[in-house]
Amino acid sequence: MSNLLNEAGADGSTQPSKNPVNTLFNEQSPAVLVESVVFSYVSGKRIIDIKKWRLNKSEHVFLYGPSGCGKSTLLNLFSGILTPQQGSVSILNTDITGLKPSKRDCFRAQHIGVVFQQFNLVPYLSVLDNIRLAMHFANDGADKQSTDKKSTTKQERIISMLQALQLPIDCIQRKASELSVGQQQRVAIARALINKPDVLIVDEPTSALDASAKDAFMKVLIETAKSSNAALIFVSHDQSLASHFKRIEALFDINDSAALGPELDSKV
Ligand code: ADP
Ligand code: MG
Repeated sequence: MSNLLNEAGADGSTQPSKNPVNTLFNEQSPAVLVESVVFSYVSGKRIIDIKKWRLNKSEHVFLYGPSGCGKSTLLNLFSGILTPQQGSVSILNTDITGLKPSKRDCFRAQHIGVVFQQFNLVPYLSVLDNIRLAMHFANDGADKQSTDKKSTTKQERIISMLQALQLPIDCIQRKASELSVGQQQRVAIARALINKPDVLIVDEPTSALDASAKDAFMKVLIETAKSSNAALIFVSHDQSLASHFKRIEALFDINDSAALGPELDSKV
C-alpha cells in the first residue's frame, strides 16, 4: 500500500524500505497476478484451473459463484494458505508459491488482510488483544525491543481504527465472544486492516445478516478499504452485494474447473 511503501522514503532519502518487495512495487505492478494455476485437494478433483487473472493496486473486485464452486479455495491460494500444484500466485510481484512456508506466513501478515466468513476472532481474547496479535505477526522482530512508548502508539492506532469503524469504545477491553455479530465484524475488519495490507481478501462474511445490516457492513468495508488504498477481493454467492462494485466477475468465467452449480443470475 502506498502509505506503507512511502514510509522509508518519506523524508526524501533513498533508504531501502523495510521489505525488499516494496522496492519492486510501483503503479504499473499488479496487486495480484495469477498465472496457470491448478489446484486440487489431495483426495479430490481439480477445483481451480485459472490461466490468467490480475487485480491492480487499489482495485476492488466482486467474485461470485454458488456454494462449493471454489471461492474459499481460491482466496486461500491468493493468501498463500494453500499452494497450487501448478502455476504461480504473485502478490506485489512476489511469487508467494515460491516462498518457504515461514516466509509466506510473514509475507501474508505484512501484505494481506483477510476477513473470514466466521471472522475467526480468538473468542477468549479482548478486542484489543485480538488486533494486537495480528500486529505482532506482522512485526518483523521489532516487538523484541518494544518500549512502553511503542506499545502506546500501537494501542492508539488500534483505538483510532476501531473508532473509524464506529465500534463503541467500551468494547475494546471486552472479550470477542461477548460482542454482537455487527461488532465482531468491525473488529474483524480492523484486524484485517491494522497492518495496512496491500490486498484485502473478504470471504462472504455477510451470509448471516439481514439486508440492512449487510448494506451497512459493505459500506464500512468499502470505505475503509478505499481510505487505506487496499486492493479488495470480495467473494460471495450473494449477488445482491454486487451493486457495491464496479468490477464484477463470475468464478465460472475465470476458473475453467468451477463446479457446475445452480444457474447464476444473468442480471449481474
Ligand atoms: P465455496 O467457498 O465456493 O463454497 P470451497 O472452496 O469451500 O467452495 O470448496 C470447493 C470444493 O472443494 C467443494 O467441493 C468442497 O467440498 C471442496 N473442499 C473444500 N475444502 C476442502 C478440503 N479441505 N479438502 C477436500 N475438499 C475440500
Ligand atoms: Mg466458501
